Amino acid sequence: MNSLQIKQAVQRLSLAQLRRLDDWLHGVIQKAEESARTARPQSRKQIVEERTVENQTYRLEMIRCGKEKCKCARGELHGPYWYSYTRVKDKIKSQYIGKKLPHKIEKQMKNKQEESEQ
Ligand SMILES: [Zn+2]
Repeated sequence: MNSLQIKQAVQRLSLAQLRRLDDWLHGVIQKAEESARTARPQSRKQIVEERTVENQTYRLEMIRCGKEKCKCARGELHGPYWYSYTRVKDKIKSQYIGKKLPHKIEKQMKNKQEESEQ
């Protein structure tokens, strides 16, 4: 069925049927949006480890830079590198840290782990 045929079919529906269709369509769109959102980061990076310390999330990630001729295009990803993620209002800010976490943060993580083990 092409989009014109779909439109013509929809125009023949009753109001109740249109409302049901509208509800259903919203669900379909929402699902498509969710999968588009989650599929994108996965294709460019792979999360190795994730830790949260004081409202900050630290992630150890393997990165695909996106260059066609790079080794990462053949599955040899870069890294792993640490990144920090901070929620600022309704946005997530990410910041590159490097191959190793600063000692201060490692210590915070260690303290947190010991707390949860008690
Ligand atoms: Zn690369």
